Amino acid sequence: MTMTAVQPHKKAKALKSTSRRPAKELCSECGLCDTYYIHYVKEACAFLNQQVAELEEKAHGRSRDLDNEDDWYFGVSNQMMTARKVDPIPGAQWTGIVSTIGMEMLKQGKVDGVVCIQNTDEDRFQPKPIIARTPEEVLAARVNKPTLSPNLSVLEQIEQSGLKRLCVIGVGCQTQALRSVQDSLGLEKLYVLGTPCVDNVNRAGLQTFLETTSRSPDTVVHYEFMQDFRIHFKHEDGSIETVPFFGLKTNKLKDIFAPSCMSCFDYTNSLADLVVGYMGSPYGWQWLVVRNETGQEMLDLVMDQLETQPVISEGDRHAAVQNSIPAYDKGVTLPMWAAKLMGVVIDKIGPRGLEYARFSIDSHFTRNYLYVKRNYPDKVDAHVPEYAKRIVSQYDLPD
Ligand code: FAD
Repeated sequence: MTMTAVQPHKKAKALKSTSRRPAKELCSECGLCDTYYIHYVKEACAFLNQQVAELEEKAHGRSRDLDNEDDWYFGVSNQMMTARKVDPIPGAQWTGIVSTIGMEMLKQGKVDGVVCIQNTDEDRFQPKPIIARTPEEVLAARVNKPTLSPNLSVLEQIEQSGLKRLCVIGVGCQTQALRSVQDSLGLEKLYVLGTPCVDNVNRAGLQTFLETTSRSPDTVVHYEFMQDFRIHFKHEDGSIETVPFFGLKTNKLKDIFAPSCMSCFDYTNSLADLVVGYMGSPYGWQWLVVRNETGQEMLDLVMDQLETQPVISEGDRHAAVQNSIPAYDKGVTLPMWAAKLMGVVIDKIGPRGLEYARFSIDSHFTRNYLYVKRNYPDKVDAHVPEYAKRIVSQYDLPD
């Protein structure tokens, strides 16, 4: 989206880090309230004012087509593809497509800065948002910090630094707040490079997850919920540990996910120009959704560094999703042998490609819909977007 005119904007006093946030327990710590842009929080916060359709129109020129099932799931798109870097970046979350785009944006002079997330010196998983001015600084931000991250806490620096062309890397809740205030940032051009995001946690919750699930929590450098229905933990010594999804100690883990993530319906980052994830692609490959021309412009910068394939879709997710609803609700944990067996069977006959992505979206949206209905019944109507209501209505839900 090209900015037309910079809007003069109002400021309010940023909150202290210890102050309760306007969204209360639903705050996803996106960082907006750490800046004077808190003035706009009632309109901008994804958990106080869900406005996906309006902002899609603004960012992509149209909101998603509710008669098109692909739009319900993946949002507005010009094209989707499967890709991986020919030379993967060592230490990246997947093959490093996100970092490569961020670096090329600077190298090829498209932008003067890239907002990305490094980690603190003391803790590899503690996010440290920065405005990178060099490709090396973007590279140093590779790999997920799998915790809530205050990406937008750098917003005041953007305006003060006089930057005119900027790329911001972020997840859905951060993107929605950013889109709401983008006309006030003093930019000529903003590129939003998104990743999907689900089941995020605060730093303490991450520790509980690692301690409950991994054989060696302190040496985990990277983990991902993979398309083979297992979590893959990579350890400092390079070894890989896998744990089947169905063997997770659901009863212990149920409460670690942030309430914001339990009430989020923007898994696929609807408002980013380009989204880079993995779940719509076969194992080992990344999944790209180009939402508009700005997204295409970013992708074009790295196409010569990628191997690509068309997206595929195989299997039928519906029965697996329907069965997972009561199991999750009751916090059922399978014995490890049964969990492994179930993982192997589902991996052989289960959904693949875009159908796997739909499986994951359906499982999370049904769970989150129940969470919002039970905990915030007054919010259901306005907070759950129409596309999510349609997705959820395919299943029988308990009260
Ligand atoms: P890299 O080149 O390693 O770059 C990663 C980028 O992520 C860095 O630029 C960094 O700035 C940014 N980043 C790191 N931590 C955060 C954070 N906490 N918040 C915002 N930005 C951050 N994809 C799916 O398809 N399905 C999922 O369910 C899914 N869940 C995710 C959950 C979380 C919490 C996150 C952060 C990402 C998730 N993704 C998911 C995206 C996926 O894991 C990869 O990040 C994506 O495919 C890019 O891989 P890469 O190798 O190109 O990234």
